[in-house]
Amino acid sequence: MNEKIALFTIFGGTGDLAKRKLYPSLFRLYRKGNLAEHFAVIGTARRDWSDDHYREIVRDTIKDLNPTAEEAEAFSSHFYYQSHNVNDSEHYDTLKKLSDTLNDKYELGGNHIYYLAMAPQFFGTIVQHLKSQGILTDNGFDRLVIEKPFGSDYDSAYQLNEEIRAVFPEKDIFRIDHYLGKEMIQNISAIRFANNIFESQWNNRYIDNVQITFAESLGVEDRGGYYEHSGALKDMVQNHILQVVALLAMEPPVAFSEAEIRAEKVKALQAIRLYSEKEALENFVRGQYGQGKLDDQEFIRYRDEPNVDEHSQTETFVAGKFLIDNFRWSGVPFYIRTGKRLTEKGTRINIVFKQVPVNVFKDDIDKCGEKTDLPPNVLTIYIQPTEGFSMTLNGKEIGQGFTTTPVKLDYRHSAETTGNSPEAYEKLLLDSLNGDGTNFSHWDEVAQSWRIVDIIRHAWDKTSVDFPNYAAGSMGPDAAFDLLEQDGFSWDWQP
Ligand code: NAD
Repeated sequence: MNEKIALFTIFGGTGDLAKRKLYPSLFRLYRKGNLAEHFAVIGTARRDWSDDHYREIVRDTIKDLNPTAEEAEAFSSHFYYQSHNVNDSEHYDTLKKLSDTLNDKYELGGNHIYYLAMAPQFFGTIVQHLKSQGILTDNGFDRLVIEKPFGSDYDSAYQLNEEIRAVFPEKDIFRIDHYLGKEMIQNISAIRFANNIFESQWNNRYIDNVQITFAESLGVEDRGGYYEHSGALKDMVQNHILQVVALLAMEPPVAFSEAEIRAEKVKALQAIRLYSEKEALENFVRGQYGQGKLDDQEFIRYRDEPNVDEHSQTETFVAGKFLIDNFRWSGVPFYIRTGKRLTEKGTRINIVFKQVPVNVFKDDIDKCGEKTDLPPNVLTIYIQPTEGFSMTLNGKEIGQGFTTTPVKLDYRHSAETTGNSPEAYEKLLLDSLNGDGTNFSHWDEVAQSWRIVDIIRHAWDKTSVDFPNYAAGSMGPDAAFDLLEQDGFSWDWQP
């Protein structure tokens, strides 16, 4: 058992994230003994709840994990509720008293994690109050875990970062990007740096292009209000997708440590070409879903979703091409796409290798008697819903003569393995308890991502598009296919 000792204060303790992700993740850590006697949780939000009611809610959030009644009772007894308006200074005094009491009761040594599971406009206020009301102490550690979005553009992110850095040093700030907690995203480094066959080929001499798809089959659901101000570019590309690009493109770190990995990721992001606005329009396309049908299911258009403007110009789809101007990647396009209401849910990366220079197999001919090209080898990393990787090779077709045929080496984690592996939030919470920021976004990464994305956003804001431009249930607008076709490529994954 490796027990961690800390008090968690969760701002937004009655919210969706806390209930769906944080409490079940804390319970998993409890079950494994990472949390035992010396931890406590204060949930704060505006609602006027009692401790008993809060504990009942917490127990409800973990019922799918099938705890025994005693286990659920013992776990939830560590939870305390504090009604709190984050704008009200006096409330922080009450919070401090409760923190001090719990610190003594559970012998927490002053270790404190503040988790901001709230709308981002409150982040700055909370952090300032933590300092001004004397909640931070010199004992133990004070760490801040902060949810996305981190700002809405470079300027607002910079401003927010200044406010936070006035209170917390960078080493104690854990900016969540939950994709970084996902097993197969973490596996990118293993595939690259533990396999010489890949790392030796991981460059512009052998790789033709890289394709990253984050497809969602769901629409905007009940998040229309939030999404209208965000859109796919800010919601997905600025954070998750650029983090994946950085992990794929970075140089091997000298050691697998937070500082070394971070340094390489920042360098990779800095090498991504900053387009002019004209280039941004040429290299990025946006879409918004219209009505559609898939497997007999009818879908409404985005503009008819709740809390969405009927003339909305918000994009629910982005596809684009990043170019990385360094020795390793010069000339290799990194294509990305993400969208809602697409044909199928799936996050995957395709590394498309260059074709062999000539096809020497004389029997590889098409119907017209023309020699065919050998298809490229493709390494696919499946991130979700299934997890694993596959590699396509060209083999000999069984029989007389010598024609080739593609074969696929396919490995997926079993449902059992996936089911038993820690969920992203569980891993990230444990990382924050360990003070390990490897799988979180450093300010330098966030800043550079915003610089890249702001240019695209500015270019788009100056022009309007005739939305909707793709049918719900399709794989996005035609322009997303043209983007690759004009370079002589096509999306390797087309469900
Ligand atoms: P939510 O609206 O469900 O919860 C917000 C919480 O903030 C509630 O507990 C509410 O009572 C509290 N709150 C609001 N105003 C307050 C005030 N003035 N004083 C005190 N408490 C106040 O939101 P959510 O979905 O849980 O999201 C929280 C954060 O996590 C957001 O930054 C969101 O972008 C991010 N996030 C959420 C998810 C998710 O799956 N829900 C995923 C990724 C990121």
